[in-house]
Amino acid sequence: MSAQQNTPQQHFPHMLSPLDLGFTTLKNRVLMGSMHTGLEEEKGGFAKLAAFYAERAKGGVGLIVTGGIAPNFRGRIAPHGSQLSFSWQTAKHKLVTDAVHQAGSKICLQILHTGRYAYHPFNVSASNIKAPINPFKPRQMSERQIKKTIKDFASTCYLAQKAGYDGVEIMGSEGYLINQFLCARTNQRQDKWGGSYQNRMRLALEIVQASRKKVGTDFIIIFRLSMLDLVEQGSTWDEVVELAKALEQAGVTIINTGIGWHEARIPTIATSVPRAAFSWVTAKMKKEVSVPLITTNRINTPEVAEEILSRGDADMVSMARPMLADAEFVNKAARGESEAINTCIACNQACLDHVFKQKRASCLVNPRACYETELNFEKAHKAKKLAVIGGGMAGMAFAIYAAQRGHQVSLFEAKDQLGGQFNLAKNVPGKEEFVDSLRYFSSELERQNIDVHLNSPQSVDSLKKASFDEIVLATGVTPRIPSIEGINHPMVFNYQQVLNGEAKIGQRVAVLGAGGIGYDVSEFLTEAGESHTVNLDLWLKEWGIDTEIAHPGGIEGVKQVQPESARQVFLLQRKAERFGKSLQPTTGWIHRAALKKRTVEMIGGIDYIKVDDDGLHINDNGETKVLAVDNVVICTGQESQRELVDGLKESGIPVHLIGGADFAGELDAKRAIRQGAELAATI
Ligand code: NAP
Ligand code: SF4
Repeated sequence: MSAQQNTPQQHFPHMLSPLDLGFTTLKNRVLMGSMHTGLEEEKGGFAKLAAFYAERAKGGVGLIVTGGIAPNFRGRIAPHGSQLSFSWQTAKHKLVTDAVHQAGSKICLQILHTGRYAYHPFNVSASNIKAPINPFKPRQMSERQIKKTIKDFASTCYLAQKAGYDGVEIMGSEGYLINQFLCARTNQRQDKWGGSYQNRMRLALEIVQASRKKVGTDFIIIFRLSMLDLVEQGSTWDEVVELAKALEQAGVTIINTGIGWHEARIPTIATSVPRAAFSWVTAKMKKEVSVPLITTNRINTPEVAEEILSRGDADMVSMARPMLADAEFVNKAARGESEAINTCIACNQACLDHVFKQKRASCLVNPRACYETELNFEKAHKAKKLAVIGGGMAGMAFAIYAAQRGHQVSLFEAKDQLGGQFNLAKNVPGKEEFVDSLRYFSSELERQNIDVHLNSPQSVDSLKKASFDEIVLATGVTPRIPSIEGINHPMVFNYQQVLNGEAKIGQRVAVLGAGGIGYDVSEFLTEAGESHTVNLDLWLKEWGIDTEIAHPGGIEGVKQVQPESARQVFLLQRKAERFGKSLQPTTGWIHRAALKKRTVEMIGGIDYIKVDDDGLHINDNGETKVLAVDNVVICTGQESQRELVDGLKESGIPVHLIGGADFAGELDAKRAIRQGAELAATI
């Protein structure tokens, strides 16, 4: 089909239709949701932020919301967190707003007062109740402080207007200050700001009223409303509706959906959460108010967005991480090229995990995200003939970016499929999204005309004969086999054999090694039937979410339906430390909870003695025990696979090592893809 025939109206007509807000019109229904990048606090970070947002604006997004900016010092997320309170601060914001407007989009500033989530000792809240996820206990706000905070919100709103923003988003969800005032969980005041719901919602309403008064009618005010708190003593649905109606009266332009407090122990955005798992919440609210509503959480393809909008669940869809993964998301969708979208796999590894560790955010599948001014693939002065050995994520990433620079790239993979470790990961329940990375990267190889050879193991001789200018070894890893007596017993398999379906596994299994892969394998072995990630109903029941929201927070008193466990699994580690310590900060707790639900037995601080027909013999605190298992699965790390290095070095051909072939110790796709991209940018 020609480009002319592929008009936006033909593809995703609901997602790509304009939204008339009366005084202004958004060109489509896609909101790039708020996401802190870490650039907000970096020296010279706003110039980088301007480039970051401008790429997304050029990529077609209808409206952008910035990362949260505090209205005052106490509301900052951390002592050095970003704040907009003085007119001299607007100049750097102008860099962002000008860049976005020049690129044809609109942008709102998110005003975020973190309340008791502020990671510093000056934090404040409705009451002095410490958050379970923050060591700093807040001070209860005085009446004077509350009034001053309302003024501060309005003043930041006014400064945002002066800085050229098209509007603001007032952050009233995710368990931050406004949300803390709304719920009895965190608000135990007896004055006019606590007690009855009318009192608890006073702060939210007065902030909106004061802000609207400062900026007039022709300025977007989005309120991010916590529609489902997912914590005990959270709001009931009646309360949420009452607030939504009052917000509408107070002059908000749009209401955005907030799902779950940060301290909630229910996953809301992790990869194991079903796609569009919470659009039904926004759909309930559609019946109650007439202002446009935005829905959010685990929407990562134009097909899912279109389905939500065509059903009438919401008027707009918010996607934050998918815009990190692919700045061109909307334009590609409009051209009918959704298979060319680099899909966010909701792994959190390079975005939220980085923010959590106060590092700059990026994206595992798109290492350019937030590095738009630093990582570029400009035409090479001299096109080189390059060979990439290994078609895992590192090899594919290198090949794609090097080809963009005009190099002539041939990629050789020994196996019959591309993707390396991702082919194993995609089989783990809850990691179904990984299929989309395989789809994107392998189809991008085609689009870049890269000469791909499957079933093509290479030797030093074959590579020498082909006279490449340089060779990139991305040969990955092999499982580390621990030296334990009987490790070659037929009951023993490595994790690759298990995850690729090669091994026939019995009912009782010992998993050796409790790193990320030990957890993945344990989830794989215990999953009975369909993965809940692809069955929303089962998933909601597993996590005890009440779709009527009749219970406070949507969960209080609701029983979680424990999933069946397909096998009895023992997960073992030699260290005498807490299990799952090496897992990622924002998702490790979900993996720990998943194994607990599936009654995996964890035994730490042990030594392996031997494997024989009786099972696995271990030394547990000086006592010898036998785990009478049918199988033992090895998940004890990896070793680099790099046989070709020495021979190639001797032959004098320049060789580069990337990914697991370079360093197996921290084998992870984030490092592998970034390393491939960085080498491609300089080779
Ligand atoms: P890993 O994290 O290195 O864990 C392997 C575990 O095996 C170690 O914690 C160690 O624990 C044990 N071990 C190491 N050498 C051993 C030996 N010689 N004999 C017996 N036990 C030994 O490796 P992984 O689980 O393979 O994960 C590799 C990487 O993949 C991780 O760095 C992670 O980034 C990534 N990954 C993450 C996830 C996730 O977060 N969900 C999932 C998959 C992969 P003890 O010594 O205490 O027994
Ligand atoms: Fe999505 Fe993972 Fe990229 Fe974050 S790092 S944007 S979750 S793919």
